[in-house]
Amino acid sequence: MDGERQMFQGNWTCANCSKEITELPFEPRGTDNLMCRDCHRENRPQRRDRSERKMYEGDWTCVDCSGSITQLPFEPRDTSNLKCRDCFVK
Ligand SMILES: [Zn+2]
Ligand SMILES: [Zn+2]
Repeated sequence: MDGERQMFQGNWTCANCSKEITELPFEPRGTDNLMCRDCHRENRPQRRDRSERKMYEGDWTCVDCSGSITQLPFEPRDTSNLKCRDCFVK
């Protein structure tokens, strides 16, 4: 839900870009290391990257079931021996 999140009002300074921060989605404990929303977002891409594994797109055929494979979690070197996810698990 994207309802109303509680925002804490204040007058802080971003440790990264020195921009003024007037609202935070959390109550800051220390004011030393605060970051504005933009910097905060830029600073946390890792968590997302981990869940979104890089997938290689292509048009391959499974040697087992002859189904088409459009995505692989790795870049295939030998395309003559590819298996789709279902057959791979078997
Ligand atoms: Zn900033
Ligand atoms: Zn298959």
